[in-house]
Amino acid sequence: MFPKSDGLILMEDRSLYQPICNFARALGAGVLVFFALASAGAQTMRPEAEKQLAHDIYKEFIEIQSGYTTGATTPVAQAAAARLKAAGFPDADIFVGGASPKKANLVVRYHGTGARKPLLLLAHIDVVEAKREDWSMDPFLLTEKDGFFYGRGTGDDKAQAAVWIANLIQYKKEGFKPDRDIIVALTADEEGGGPFNGVAWLLKNHRDLIDADFALNEGGWGESLEGKKRSNDLQVSEKYVLNFRFEVHNKGGHSSMPVADNAIYHLAFALAHLSEFGFPLKTNEVTAAYFQQMSKIEGGAVGDDLARVAAGSQEAMQKVAAASPVWNATLRTTCVATQLEGGHAINALPQLAAANVNCRVLPEDSAEYVLGTLKKVVGDEQVSITSTSDFGAGPASPMRADVLAAVNSTTQKIWPGVLTVPIMVAGATDGRYLRVAGIPTYGIQGFFFDRNDIRFHGRDERMAVQSFYEGQTFLYDLVKTLSQPTK
Ligand SMILES: [Zn+2]
Repeated sequence: MFPKSDGLILMEDRSLYQPICNFARALGAGVLVFFALASAGAQTMRPEAEKQLAHDIYKEFIEIQSGYTTGATTPVAQAAAARLKAAGFPDADIFVGGASPKKANLVVRYHGTGARKPLLLLAHIDVVEAKREDWSMDPFLLTEKDGFFYGRGTGDDKAQAAVWIANLIQYKKEGFKPDRDIIVALTADEEGGGPFNGVAWLLKNHRDLIDADFALNEGGWGESLEGKKRSNDLQVSEKYVLNFRFEVHNKGGHSSMPVADNAIYHLAFALAHLSEFGFPLKTNEVTAAYFQQMSKIEGGAVGDDLARVAAGSQEAMQKVAAASPVWNATLRTTCVATQLEGGHAINALPQLAAANVNCRVLPEDSAEYVLGTLKKVVGDEQVSITSTSDFGAGPASPMRADVLAAVNSTTQKIWPGVLTVPIMVAGATDGRYLRVAGIPTYGIQGFFFDRNDIRFHGRDERMAVQSFYEGQTFLYDLVKTLSQPTK
C-alpha cells in the first residue's frame, strides 16, 4: 500500500447531510456501547493461547520470503492452508491458486447461516523487497526488540493476514455461527500494482469465491502521536490518478535568430497558469465526516475552522487548505507538473517542449472535467494536452452506517475516547479492484503506528508488540459484530 501521506482523501457528491446524520447516529451507538463496556472492563488482548497462535502464524509468514520481484507467495498460501486444515477446515472450503505457480493466493470460506451476503476479509501476502545490508537486522526473521516486532511485512501487510487466519481458526474452535459466510483472501502481487494477479485475478477467474456484501482491507490504521492514540482511521475511498502530457511543437531554427513563437515559452506560460490555478474547494460526505472528527481531535481555533469546513464554509476551506498540503489535497482535485523535457541543442530553437502533469482526482470529478478544465486554464491552442493514463473514475465506497457503527463501537470498547476518522488515501490498494467490481471496501486494521514514523516499504519496518495483539482483539471483535446474527 502507499503511505497515507501520499495524499488524502474523499469522495461522493451525494447528499451531504444525510450521511453525516448516519455517521452521527453511528457515533451515538458507539457511545452507548462504550458506557456498557467501561463498567464491565474492556478486554484489549485475546487469551494467551490465541495470542500465541497469531504470533506463530505472523512469524511463519514473515520468515517466508515473498518479495514482489524475487520471492514467492505460494509457500505463504500453503502455510495458511496447512494451519486451516489442521484446525478442521475442509479441503472444499480452501482454494490455493493464482496467475503463476510461484504467486498463489489463498481463499478460505467459513460458513454462516447465509442470512446475509458474505463478508470478505482481505490482506496481501507479498511484500516490498528488503535487502539485508540496508537493515539493522535480518528483514526475513521476526525479531522482537524493545517492544517492537521487526521484519519485512510486520506492518504491510502480514500482520493483518496472520490475524485474519488466527481469528478464523478461533471462531471455528468456539463454534461461532455467523449469519453470513466469512471469507478470508490472502493475495499475491499487490505491491506490483498490476491487474494480473491477486484480487483482480480472483475477480476475473473465481468471482464466486470472493463475492461479498463488502470487504475489509488494509489502508486504514490507527494514528498515534508522541505515544498518545489520536484516531482510528477508516479508509472509505481513494482518489484516482490521471497523468497528462503538455506538449508544444515548433519548427525550430538557429538560436541566433529567435522568434516570438518559442516552444519552451509556450510551455512555461502554460505551467505558470497551472501553478496559479486551484480546483474548486469542496467537501463531500466522507470529507465532511473527516473534518467533523478532526475538529474534535485538533480542538482550539484550528478545531473551529475544521468544524466550519465540515459545515461547508468556503472561507474556512480556503484557510485550512492554505495551512496544510494534506488538507488542501482533501478538499480538491490537484494537478501538478512533475517532469520536463525539451530542446535538442544549446544553440538551437526548441522544436519540442513537454511536461508531465500528475493529477490526483476526487472520485466525483470526471476525467473529462479535469481535461476540459486544464485546457481552459492553459488557454493556448499551441499547447496540446493529452491523457497518458487510462481514463476511469475511482468509485467510492458508501459511508455505510452499519460499518461505521461497528468500527466505532469496537474502537470505543478497546480504546475509550479514540475517535474513528473516515479517510481516503490517494491510490493505491487492491481495494480499488473490489470497488470497481461493486464490492464496497473499507480499510481498517486497528494497528496503531506513530504518525511520524511510518516504515512501510522502508528499512527496519516494525509493529509495536502491544499494537499487534490489540489489533488482533479489535479485528476479532469487529468481524464478530459485523457477522453476528441480528436479533
Ligand atoms: Zn500493503
